[in-house]
Amino acid sequence: MNILDGRKTAHSFEAKIRAEVTALKEKHGREPKLVVVLVGDNPASMAYVKSKEKASKRVGINGVTMRFPSTITEAELLGTVLKLNEDETVDGMIVQLPLPTHINSDNILNHIAPHKDVDGLSFINAGKLANRQYGLLPATPKGVMMLLDHYKVQYEGKDAVVVGASNLVGSPMAKLLLHRGATITVCHSKTKDLASHTKRADILVVATGVVNLIRGEMVKKGAIVVDVGINRVDGKIVGDVNYDEVKEKAALITPVPGGVGPMTINALMFNVLEAFKNRHQ
Ligand code: NDP
Repeated sequence: MNILDGRKTAHSFEAKIRAEVTALKEKHGREPKLVVVLVGDNPASMAYVKSKEKASKRVGINGVTMRFPSTITEAELLGTVLKLNEDETVDGMIVQLPLPTHINSDNILNHIAPHKDVDGLSFINAGKLANRQYGLLPATPKGVMMLLDHYKVQYEGKDAVVVGASNLVGSPMAKLLLHRGATITVCHSKTKDLASHTKRADILVVATGVVNLIRGEMVKKGAIVVDVGINRVDGKIVGDVNYDEVKEKAALITPVPGGVGPMTINALMFNVLEAFKNRHQ
């Protein structure tokens, strides 16, 4: 089988997290606490938050969701973030994106205390990553690296192509691959002749939200293909890669669902653990 099985890998890592949480609880008298702030009722966001709640429960992290209506003002939301920064019992916090358009997301994210920023999206943590001084890393690219490492993927001298350049996924993903010794190309919506780039990739990571963007003929034989995309089509979840075509050529490939999604949640749990440990050092 040439599957990069995120579900199985995340499951095996959860056992490690659970054991560490138990030990930390014994030592410090409480379990790590994660607060997720959810604004509005975007169905995808609600589903992501639910899976974070469930994962927290499985590993013994105290996961709490604070829900606010989409009419909340930026000042009110900021007030909540500042209070959570001060709350000694809170180790990690996430403000679930996207936020309603009347709220400046960057402003909110940049007020999260960097040591509690378990999504790794504040400018301070992003800046640290850019300077190879890792703070808390964004969960999706971190989860992808954990999965590739688990399957003993080698990076040095490899051509890695990342399709998608967002602050959330593509951009930090490219940096992590670069820091491990791969040669990086980052493609985006203005890239001319996408296939000419993807065909060269030894490692291809796709994070665009465009269904079926990557077809079989766009992938080199023996490539390692990571599909980050989550798209809902006719009630089914599909990625950005045409799985049936590409799996015939790839040496390893992530399925959707069951690939990057579970690893993202897993990486988030590791970040909460890291935030807790940093505070107690
Ligand atoms: P964004 O919309 O923020 O970014 C999309 C990126 O893809 C942009 O850089 C954009 O280019 C690029 N892009 C769009 N169309 C094309 C195209 N036709 N060809 C090449 N590049 C293109 O999305 P995110 O990065 O937040 O998310 C990407 C996908 O990953 C989504 O499906 C999302 O649901 C999924 N996701 C999955 C997670 C998981 O746990 N599995 C976690 C987070 C996200 P440009 O910069 O020019 O606009």
